[in-house]
Amino acid sequence: MKIWLDGGLQDAEGARVSVFDHGLTVGDGVFETIKAEHGRAFALTRHLERLTTSARGLGLPDPDLDEVRRGCAAVIDANPMALGRLRITYTGGVSPLGSDRGEAGPTLVIALSETHRRPDTTAAVTVPWTRNERGALTGLKTTSYGENVVALARARELGASEALFANTVGALCEGTGSNVFVVLDGELHTPPLHSGCLAGITRALTISWAGAKETDLPLDALERAEEIFLTSTLRDVQAVNRIDRRQLADGPGPVTAEAMRIFDEQAAADFDPR
Ligand code: PLP
Repeated sequence: MKIWLDGGLQDAEGARVSVFDHGLTVGDGVFETIKAEHGRAFALTRHLERLTTSARGLGLPDPDLDEVRRGCAAVIDANPMALGRLRITYTGGVSPLGSDRGEAGPTLVIALSETHRRPDTTAAVTVPWTRNERGALTGLKTTSYGENVVALARARELGASEALFANTVGALCEGTGSNVFVVLDGELHTPPLHSGCLAGITRALTISWAGAKETDLPLDALERAEEIFLTSTLRDVQAVNRIDRRQLADGPGPVTAEAMRIFDEQAAADFDPR
């Protein structure tokens, strides 16, 4: 397995990042997860724009996108696989313990791991913790993911694959690694960005391709929704067949099935042509 580090390809096994990297010691970093299918990256330009937005939000220098593109292509070419999770990590760099970021500049790591296509349906739960819709990190894809790790562990304990958060005012927000859509009276809705959710790339594509409305929704919309689905880079559009104790249809409902169909059809055009 080859990864990209220090400006070139390296063997993953021998590759070293300092134990004093600010990303490791204080979670000072941003990342992207990109789907790589048959050697091509999906929606790469959108992911690189979000990487830059997240880096700026954290006060990191803009990533060198030429290098990031070269690194992504090199890692994909060096590790052939049918379906991969391409991960870009960009951190504050090496810095003595207890100090601010060092002078040496950011650390960039690009790695790929094999993954599988997610099932069409899954179970989700709500969690008692809230997303802060007005935090310093709100809307940024940072490596400070501890809150999501805890919530996902709760979901797994309850036999689900995703945990959904409300924000501090009780509005439906997002999952630990996905955005959420609900069908109410036959219409498709998703929480707006001011709910505190990440500007998911699959979310944005689903809004424009399937015509969803951005609506402030209370958490209990999940109890009334005719259909619920999740979106993310690796899930694409995935129907929810159980939310907490509430059982929904076993397969995707009509609105979800149509969103899936449109997504699959349109997404074919959004793979990086290389
Ligand atoms: N929300 C959070 C917190 C995420 O981490 C992710 C993706 O990892 C998403 C939503 C979905 O975003 P995308 O569709 O860009 O993968």
